[in-house]
Amino acid sequence: PGPQQPFDPDKKTIVVLGSGWGATSLLKSLDNEDYNVVVISPRNYFLFTPLLPSVAIGTLDARSIIQPTRYITRHKKRVVHVYEAEAQEVDPINKTVTFKGKNFSYTSPIKGQQDTGSIKYDYLVYAVGAETQTFNIPGVKEHSCFMKELKDAEKLRTTVMDCIESAAMNSDNPNAGADVDRLLHMVVVGGGPTGIELSGELHDFVHDDLKNWYPELADKVRVTLIEALPNVLPMFSKQLIQYTESTFKENKINILTRTKVKEIKENSVIVQNEKGEFVEMPFGVLVWAAGNVGRDITRNLMGKIGAAQSNPRGLLVDDFLQLKGAEGIYAIGDCAATSYAPTAQVASQQGNYLARQFVQIARKENLEAKLKHLRESLDTAPEAIESTVKQINKASKLRPFHYSHQGSLAYIGSEKAIADLPFLNGNFASGGVATFLFWRSAYVSTLFSLRNRTLVVSDWLKVKLFGRDTSRD
Ligand code: FAD
Ligand code: NAD
Repeated sequence: PGPQQPFDPDKKTIVVLGSGWGATSLLKSLDNEDYNVVVISPRNYFLFTPLLPSVAIGTLDARSIIQPTRYITRHKKRVVHVYEAEAQEVDPINKTVTFKGKNFSYTSPIKGQQDTGSIKYDYLVYAVGAETQTFNIPGVKEHSCFMKELKDAEKLRTTVMDCIESAAMNSDNPNAGADVDRLLHMVVVGGGPTGIELSGELHDFVHDDLKNWYPELADKVRVTLIEALPNVLPMFSKQLIQYTESTFKENKINILTRTKVKEIKENSVIVQNEKGEFVEMPFGVLVWAAGNVGRDITRNLMGKIGAAQSNPRGLLVDDFLQLKGAEGIYAIGDCAATSYAPTAQVASQQGNYLARQFVQIARKENLEAKLKHLRESLDTAPEAIESTVKQINKASKLRPFHYSHQGSLAYIGSEKAIADLPFLNGNFASGGVATFLFWRSAYVSTLFSLRNRTLVVSDWLKVKLFGRDTSRD
């Protein structure tokens, strides 16, 4: 990339919180010639979440599905500052964000401000996502693995291999039967797409790899999926739910619906089944994929705004994604409570939309400055003023955000996937191996860079040729 224009104290500053789907789509599409942009996120990279379950069992390498945020910002017209830091508080009145980073000796380049861990914004793009919902169920935080961040997938992979190796050491010991059974029981809580995809991936690992390298154990491994509702995947069509359930049955993944997790102990989970009975199930690995909840910083912001923000699901925005009850803040992605599901598709379309909005806002402001200049100069023709006013009126007409659903896809294991795709005015549902190939090609083309695409495809090839790596640190 060539030289970038420097920070300009006369330009407005957009502070972007987050480096996930919403923030990254915004950064990719944003023309920042008219703005200073600062990105604050505890992660200095973008994580391609749809392929995260594949990292958990070693189909993909962790580095293949992440992209450093600077790879995007480095190509922008004007310098973008990327701070690896966590925003701690937003002050919507004074328009500031305080943040905590690894490096506190910080001098802001913006508007001559000198500060430690606090930054002023003209516009704030709030895209901090959500965290995993635990419902304050005892033991969830202490004894489960999550599936949200890269470190979660890496932890799960290690935990699975810990259990396999411990079971292998005790496989000949007749007194250790119950313990071996426990170690080889993998439980997934949550029958949403995350839980389903992960269960499918765990099945593949057992079937494709453990069978080769731990033949004495592979048949003893059990995967159980626990879901509180009457069926899994409520967002998919009925026939695909049935297809998933029958594929899981074939793959010997046990689905327990109408079953609620009540407590998780170190080595066992207590559930309440559909008859209302409490049952204790020993496990070696438990993955908690029971949905999302807003972050503390989001609740704190809602509290500051007061009555305009009263939805416990998240931040309320208007049709232009502006936060209700605050000026200059836009909320996108999983942190916002909208009529759309909290998906990457929604967050990325919102990010792209905001990028276009910012260009239009800048155009309007530039035209207003031009109009002021025209009015101040004595020799301006009235037509020139009239035409500028018209252009300002045009630029003032912002279009509301419109979501275009491209369909839902999920991997369900044994090289099968399901897809619900909008077709004409209806829906086209498909499941199976061809859908799996479509799933792969859809995600490869959605990956943000050629580098990621190359890495993911070569990981798939490596696994096809040599199987997954079962070694661990
Ligand atoms: P995120 O992508 O979660 O990004 C939030 C960002 O904010 C992160 O960079 C985080 O580090 C940062 N952050 C957190 N706290 C702070 C703070 N205090 N200050 C600053 N920054 C902060 N959706 C689909 O449409 N299709 C799929 O196939 C799909 N698969 C998924 C698979 C898995 C395993 C998971 C977990 C989710 C999947 N989703 C999928 C959902 C999708 O990932 C989310 O809807 C999407 O990530 C939301 O984007 P976001 O930008 O709101 O949040
Ligand atoms: P989710 O909210 O979709 O599903 C969580 C499930 O956990 C629910 O069905 C809920 O009933 C169940 N649950 C909650 N508490 C429970 C308990 N105590 N005991 C048993 N079951 C319990 O969560 P998710 O799967 O993580 O998905 C989050 C979002 O990300 C969704 O919008 C989803 O569409 C999106 N996503 C999409 C894909 C995809 O398109 N392939 C993949 C992953 C995630």
